[in-house]
Amino acid sequence: MKSFLCICCLLAVQFCFSQSAPLTRNIFIITTDGFRWQEVFKGADPVLIRDPHYVKDTSLMLQQYWDNDADTRRKKLLPFFWSVIAQQGMLAGNRDFDNDVNVANLYKISYPGYNEIFTGYADLKFIPNLSVRNKNRNVLEYLNEQEEYAGKVAAFSSWNVLPFILGKTATTMPVNGGYEMLNEDNSDTINTLINQVQKNIVHKTNTRHDLLTFESAKSYIEQEHPRVLFLGLGETDECAHNKAYDGYLQKAHQVDAMLAELWYYVQTDPFYKDNTTFIITTDHGRGAKNTNWNTHGFWVKGSGETWMAMLGPGIAASGELTGKQQIYQKQIAATVSFMLGEKFSAGHPVADPILLQEKITENKKIPQTMAVSVSAVNK
Ligand SMILES: [Zn+2]
Repeated sequence: MKSFLCICCLLAVQFCFSQSAPLTRNIFIITTDGFRWQEVFKGADPVLIRDPHYVKDTSLMLQQYWDNDADTRRKKLLPFFWSVIAQQGMLAGNRDFDNDVNVANLYKISYPGYNEIFTGYADLKFIPNLSVRNKNRNVLEYLNEQEEYAGKVAAFSSWNVLPFILGKTATTMPVNGGYEMLNEDNSDTINTLINQVQKNIVHKTNTRHDLLTFESAKSYIEQEHPRVLFLGLGETDECAHNKAYDGYLQKAHQVDAMLAELWYYVQTDPFYKDNTTFIITTDHGRGAKNTNWNTHGFWVKGSGETWMAMLGPGIAASGELTGKQQIYQKQIAATVSFMLGEKFSAGHPVADPILLQEKITENKKIPQTMAVSVSAVNK
């Protein structure tokens, strides 16, 4: 029986690779920098949330984010993840079930991480987190060069280095990062207001406030209706480096609320409704211990451990994946192009798309490959 199922899965895989019909019409990739799988799947950490070194008001944080029951606790922190995504989408990366998502790059910091996500390639060459233009071709550029998606790809990031990782030049797709100003040509938008706020921020860092990045992206989505969008949020990582576990939880909760708002917008806009898929992930993990949770990198164990959530057409409603499995961050680029019915290629090797495991339900086994679960969406 087991081998029969394996053969079925294998056939499904071959079917996946050979078919070219898109599984979805639009894709939004949303990342929150350096957010650990531990908090995604288990909610607030029992030790860190009580540690006055990392939390200014432990009793108030406990009231907001603590519950002895792990399911209730993670839902308190990330209500959209554990209501809508858990019911309609899928969540991968709970290592308590050996369901692993990892970065494939050696360095486990942001530049190599975003490079891996968008180029499908774990580059051995080390580029630190600096404004150095990336020479590797990425899937967003590739899609923007295809007739179907030309001029319909855009990226917004809190971190001001991301435009360099995406190889931004004057002729490529719109990429807005850090406190870069927005286009004010269309007077119907709130861009003038966002720009005024940006100009008046006194203490600017390399990472723009996520709320401003979110509003900038949302304004663009409403005006331009991009088919492929990247929204890169950054404050979870900032708070963690500042050893502020309270801020880290608050920012994660805010990201969850942004996702809820964006998904609601998508599902109530005729252009996007029922034909838009969200891929939500992070660029790296962090230290797994209570003494090094704040940091990450080559020497910090746990930094390569990540997670992924997906929601929308092309994604089976399998909820939290609980089977043994290994997904790599470098598979995202090909997954994005595959789901849109395109085949991303570059001058470097590109990892294969993700194929989701079969999940055992109460009375039957369902092969959870993306293609099997959902019929193709017309372009
Ligand atoms: Zn960091």
